[in-house]
Amino acid sequence: MAIDAPSSPTAQPWSDRLRHSTIILIAAALALSVVVSLGELSVLHAVAVFLCIAAAALIPWRLHDTAASRDDVRRINPVESAAVAAVVAGMPDPAVLLDRAGRVIHLNAAAAQLAPALRRNELAQFALRSPEIITALRESIATTEPRRATYLDHVPVDRWMELIITPVPVPTTFGGADKCMLMTFHDQTPLRRVEEMRADFVANASHELRTPLAALSGFIDTLQGQAKDDPKARERFLGIMHNQATRMARLIDDLLSLSRVELSAHVRPDTLVDLLPIIRQVADGLEPLARERQVEVEIHLPEPPVMIAGDREELLRLFENLIENALKYGASGGRVIVSLTSGAATDGTQEIRVMVRDFGPGIAPEHLPRLTERFYRVDVGDSRLQGGTGLGLSLVKHILNRHRGRLLIESVPKQGATFTACFPQIRPPVTV
Ligand code: ADP
Repeated sequence: MAIDAPSSPTAQPWSDRLRHSTIILIAAALALSVVVSLGELSVLHAVAVFLCIAAAALIPWRLHDTAASRDDVRRINPVESAAVAAVVAGMPDPAVLLDRAGRVIHLNAAAAQLAPALRRNELAQFALRSPEIITALRESIATTEPRRATYLDHVPVDRWMELIITPVPVPTTFGGADKCMLMTFHDQTPLRRVEEMRADFVANASHELRTPLAALSGFIDTLQGQAKDDPKARERFLGIMHNQATRMARLIDDLLSLSRVELSAHVRPDTLVDLLPIIRQVADGLEPLARERQVEVEIHLPEPPVMIAGDREELLRLFENLIENALKYGASGGRVIVSLTSGAATDGTQEIRVMVRDFGPGIAPEHLPRLTERFYRVDVGDSRLQGGTGLGLSLVKHILNRHRGRLLIESVPKQGATFTACFPQIRPPVTV
């Protein structure tokens, strides 16, 4: 945005004006002396006329200076110069330079876009109507100290901006310095969102831990009280306590795994691992659960090894989560298929796809985009009943991200769900 255009020519220099006035006075003196020598005018009258002409030649200088137009002031005022305008325009964040009264001298395109009500030569207080900003501006002007305020923008999306008002000394036309106010806006939205996520996460994690903890202390009280001498009740309560303790341990395990994967998210695994024994190991480990839920697990894997650059422990967690979810939530379908294929991704690169398909109730489409959020569950009660923590798919997504892969979730309600983990295929070594 072009903020300032002091394109008018420079002011007429004093030397020029002096020369013009001298010429006028010499011409007047010569004319008057001719008239006096011709006896048409007395010397006294001639002197009076000369003084009038001299005044007429010199007084406009003063008038011109005092009645200088605003454009002339702008032309010679350093604050209003094109150089200052260029500096403000070049600032990466929205920036506005105000005079002592809060009037806008310069603003850059980002500021004009952020607050379209801001106009040059108008008071910023009228454009940014927030009482917090007006107070900060007034205080900064009065104390000539920096002040901060929050600027909230709601269109097109919610944005939190930190507004910093910094007094800046600027040279004035007649020497010395005046204080202008530089207002800069800094977008705090990403930080706020992270902070909100962190607060949500802590609240969710505490809540998830507090529930089994409350159950445990409740049963301890009961065992110390009325169930003290009841071996049958004691046996039953100990069983429930064991389940609750397992749930807590699982939650802590998942939280630790998640933070470990997040910490190393930027480091891509570089060890070559064969996916087939990892998938078989997970399926074997989950056989008791499959038997308990009466689900038949079909494994369709190719014969030759399928190598990817991966972290074995993380891959075990990944397949464990996907197959266990299929066995828990899709048990009613009685069948789970685990298969491995390869194919081209949308960008044309080759990828390995491990598909876990169940034939259970499936997932309604509105839940699909949120399934990988931490603690998100379609049915909280059902998940808790199954010993779930709500962190499994979030962990799967993070592990896949670290492996530069992706997770596909497809489901048709009442027909089951398919979770596909896609890994980039390693390139064969180049032979020379
Ligand atoms: P949880 O620990 O609750 O299993 P996950 O992150 O693994 O947490 O899964 C999130 C939610 O996604 C589950 O609570 C469940 O509602 C749903 N879900 C996951 N897998 C399936 C599946 N195969 N069929 C139906 N719903 C599923």
